[in-house]
Amino acid sequence: MNELTEREAPAVVIVGSGHAGVAVAAGLRTRGWEGRVVLVESDGHVPYERPPLSKELLAPGAPTEATPLRKAAWFEGKGIERVRGTAAAIDRPRHELALEDGRVLPYTKLVLATGSTPRRLPVPGADLGGVLALKTLDDARQLARELAPRAGRGRRAVIVGAGYIGLEVAAAAAKLGCDVTVLEFQDRVMSRVTSEPVSRFFEDLHARAGVRFVFGAAVSGFEGQGGRVARVLTADGGRFPADVVVAGIGVLPGQRLAEAAGLDVGDGILVDANGQTSDPDVYAAGDATRSADAYDGASLRLECIQNARAQAEAVAAHVAGAAAPPAEVPWFWTVQHGVRLQTAGVRRPDDEVILRGSPADGKFSVVYLRDSRVAAIDTVGSLADFTAGKKLVSRRAPLDAHLAADPSVPLEQAVAPLEAAAR
Ligand code: ADP
Repeated sequence: MNELTEREAPAVVIVGSGHAGVAVAAGLRTRGWEGRVVLVESDGHVPYERPPLSKELLAPGAPTEATPLRKAAWFEGKGIERVRGTAAAIDRPRHELALEDGRVLPYTKLVLATGSTPRRLPVPGADLGGVLALKTLDDARQLARELAPRAGRGRRAVIVGAGYIGLEVAAAAAKLGCDVTVLEFQDRVMSRVTSEPVSRFFEDLHARAGVRFVFGAAVSGFEGQGGRVARVLTADGGRFPADVVVAGIGVLPGQRLAEAAGLDVGDGILVDANGQTSDPDVYAAGDATRSADAYDGASLRLECIQNARAQAEAVAAHVAGAAAPPAEVPWFWTVQHGVRLQTAGVRRPDDEVILRGSPADGKFSVVYLRDSRVAAIDTVGSLADFTAGKKLVSRRAPLDAHLAADPSVPLEQAVAPLEAAAR
C-alpha cells in the first residue's frame, strides 16, 4: 500500500471496500479514468463477496476463506491503491479526508461506500459473550466457531429477527445440529420484504428442519453466566436458554462521516441518480445511501448487491465523464435450506398480491400489482418467472390478473391486452 503524499494528480478517494467501493474503482478504470484511485479499507482483508458469509461460510466443514471480489494482483495491475485505515473526517473546503491514524488523503472526488452496520439490541446484557451479529468475514468466522457442536452436542442457538440474515443463519445453524429458536417481533417471517404466502412457505421449510419460531416476541434482555450469554428474555416473560445468540434485526446506514461533514442525510446519505450527494465533489454508493426509486420516485434505501453495483457504475460514469448506465430494477435473493427466493422490484404492503402456482409444489411466484401494473415479483424455483417478471417490472407492464394467476401461461403472455395491443 502506498503512502499518499502527491497532491498534484487528480485523485478519486473511495471510502469502503465492499461491493460498491470496489465496483466504483473498477468502473473508473473501465471508463478510462487515468487519475489516481485510492481505496480506503478498514476491514483488513482483500475485498470479498458478502453473500457467502451467511451461507457457504457457515456450512458444515466450511472454508474459512471468503471469495475475493478481485484478487490482490488485480488491484495492483489496475493501479488501484489500497490504503488500510478508517476514515475519521471529511474537510470539504480543503478536499481532504482524514484517517483515524492521522494520515490525510487529498481528493478531487470523494466516494462514500461506507455500507451499513448491524443494528444492536438496546437491551441489558447485549454486550455479553456469545451475543453476535453478522456483517464481516471476521463475524462469519466467529459465528461458524460458535455454532459448531461442542463435545459432540449441538448448541442452543437463539436468533433474534426473521429477516434474510436471521433466517439464513437459522438454516445454517439447523444444518450444524443446533437447537434453533427464532424470536421475531412481527407475526411472520420476512414481513418487511415479502407477502404472507412467501412468509408461510419459508416458515414451513424451517419448521420441517426443526427450527422453532416465536412470533410477537420482543427481546427485553439477556442473562449471562461468567460473562457469557445463558438466556434470552422477552417482554412477555419468556426465557429462552441459549449458548449463542445472533441478532439479525436490520442495519443502520454508514452515514456518520457524511453527517458530520454537513452533507444531506436522512436514514441514508441522500444521493441523486448519478450518486452525487449535496456536495458535487462527494459521491456515495451502496447500502449507505438513500435515493429516488426509478419506478416512481419514492425515496428508498436498498440493501442489495445489485443496487451497490448499479450505483457504483453510475458514480464511475459521472466522475469519468462517460454516459450514465441505464436505470436498473433492484433485485434480491436469499437461499434457505437449499431453496432460493428471488425478488425483483420493491413491494409495498398495499400492493395487490397475485399468487402463481402452489407453494405446496415448492415452485410458485407472487406478483405485486400497483395500479394494475407490475411493481415487484417474488419467485421460488422459477427462473423463467424471475427473468420475465424483472422485465415486466422495468416497464411497469399492466397485467391481466386472471391470466397471471395461471402458471401454465408464461408471465410475459399475461400482459393486459391494452399494452399487448400497443406493442
Ligand atoms: P436483516 O437485513 O438484518 O435481515 P430485516 O430488516 O430484513 O434485517 O429483518 C429484521 C427482522 O427483525 C424484522 O423481521 C423485524 O421485525 C425483526 N426485529 C427487529 N427488532 C426486533 C426485536 N427487538 N425483536 C425481535 N425481532 C426484531
